[in-house]
Amino acid sequence: MKRWNGWGNADTTYYVPESALVYLRGVLGELSTCPDATEEAILPSVPKSRLLAHPLVAADPETRLRHARGQSLPDWVALRTGRIPAFPDGVAFPRSEEQVGGLLSYARQTGARVIPYGGGSSVVGHINPDKSENPVLTVDMGSLDKLIDLDETSCVATFEAGVTGPALEAQLGEHGYTLGHFPQSHEYSTLGGWIAARSSGQQSYFYGRIESLFAGGRVETPAGRLDLPHFPASAAGPDVREMVLGSEGRIGIITRAQVRVRPHPQVEEFHGVFFPTWEQGMEAVRSIAQQGVPVSMLRLSNPLETETTLILSGKSWIGPADKGLRLIGFGDRRCLLVFGVTGTAAHVRRARGETAAVCRKFGGLFVGTVVGHTWEKSRFLAPYLRNTLWEKGVAVDTLETALPWRNVPAAAVEISASIREAMEVLGEKVLVIAHLSHVYRDGASVYTTILFRRTQDPDLLLERWQAMKRAASLTIQRNGGTISHQHGVGEDHAPYLPAEKGSLGMQIIRNACATFDPDGMMNPGKLF
Ligand SMILES: Cc1cc2nc3c(=O)[nH]c(=O)nc-3n(C[C@H](O)[C@H](O)[C@H](O)COP(=O)(O)OP(=O)(O)OC[C@H]3O[C@@H](n4cnc5c(N)ncnc54)[C@H](O)[C@@H]3O)c2cc1C
Repeated sequence: MKRWNGWGNADTTYYVPESALVYLRGVLGELSTCPDATEEAILPSVPKSRLLAHPLVAADPETRLRHARGQSLPDWVALRTGRIPAFPDGVAFPRSEEQVGGLLSYARQTGARVIPYGGGSSVVGHINPDKSENPVLTVDMGSLDKLIDLDETSCVATFEAGVTGPALEAQLGEHGYTLGHFPQSHEYSTLGGWIAARSSGQQSYFYGRIESLFAGGRVETPAGRLDLPHFPASAAGPDVREMVLGSEGRIGIITRAQVRVRPHPQVEEFHGVFFPTWEQGMEAVRSIAQQGVPVSMLRLSNPLETETTLILSGKSWIGPADKGLRLIGFGDRRCLLVFGVTGTAAHVRRARGETAAVCRKFGGLFVGTVVGHTWEKSRFLAPYLRNTLWEKGVAVDTLETALPWRNVPAAAVEISASIREAMEVLGEKVLVIAHLSHVYRDGASVYTTILFRRTQDPDLLLERWQAMKRAASLTIQRNGGTISHQHGVGEDHAPYLPAEKGSLGMQIIRNACATFDPDGMMNPGKLF
């Protein structure tokens, strides 16, 4: 069963060795925990629903609590302390596109606000109801999860938009195909959510980001149905798909999507390479991207993330490997690259050889597939670490951006420094680690993880998080980075969007949303 106040399946646990906790206490100071609010304690605080009864709408407190918040740090604090300011008044589970359209009509007639809900894996406050005069209807798309059509000649699949990552891959897998879109939230996030939040998978270097995979589809909007036919390419004016990508539930509900799929690759491998320094590693991945070496993934950890990841993994081979690396000159400044190669056997051989040649040029040391496959095995387990660490007294959050290469080295350092400084002012320590998560010819995504101590006082915890988030966001913008490479805008990034889009850009976004949703009933407060 899905955990109601944290990440993932309630039966899955990420084990953290005692040695890792010793390390974290050494960096952060003594850790303290306090009991979380129980579901039973919170349920009586769910107010009476203000919605008129509807056969598709569940209004029981448990369903409403389970759809009240996503996965951002403020969401976690709300759920774990039971201080949840607003709940949806009801949650609908439509089973057809017609029912989605019908629910929008019902919402309009009853003055309800509508929140489209995919997997609820948003980390920026996308699906949280506001305290509002109007009742709030959350529309959970989870029952719309079928493959509608697979056009094997064109390699295009049509899915209902509520399908989760595993269900989508399983249905394609029966025919020998894959979408290859693997965000770390794959287990629970949905196709509609990926499109609406402009998601990026871990191997988007090879398979493409969701904007290149999304070929067409259908959206039920308050102003009517929007059909987006699939064309392999088109010069017929502005592309309306772009209004759907990143729409964050503000224009309507995506009910189906056509996506570009591929036959399952014959071979997939993940390799590890150590570099003596972060700078050498960055030069190597930039060269790989700019020379067009056909890898499927490049993930370069900075020295502190390299060290922290190895310690948290608790693997028995880490100690001897560490000694061996130090003996040959890979000391405290070393950093780890995990790269993937995907395709036919011949393609994989070529890509591996070319990558090896570039890495060697920049001092890289190949360590084979052990590290790479350890990463692969735990790629969807890693988010469970957040549950375990929370229970041990450590809060974890992530933030990300993408910047032109020219700005990447300085920004990567400054983002971490700004977060540490924000906490220093508050007399607290924070462990800030980072990696380049996605690499492009013209730039890279810097993905930063922060680990800091929980406090007994949730307001103090939020104050610290806000100070770090603000410092990092302003530093990102000062360095010419986007406020989000993959997590979207939601509530948390909305204050920073005008600086990125400009006033005319914001007006275009607002006007477009108003065309689809003249009464402003769709997911208010998100995006702008
Ligand atoms: C542990 C973890 C790891 C993550 N890793 C990644 C990652 O690697 N890459 C990445 O891109 N993101 C990642 N995310 C963020 C998140 O998973 C993505 O934003 C994802 O796209 C959200 O999908 P969802 O189905 O859960 O959408 P939700 O969280 O339910 O909703 C997100 C937004 O999309 C809208 N929406 C959802 N479905 C529809 C629909 N059918 N029609 C219209 N609007 C809709 C919602 O209204 C909301 O505004 C991660 C999150 C977590 C918790």
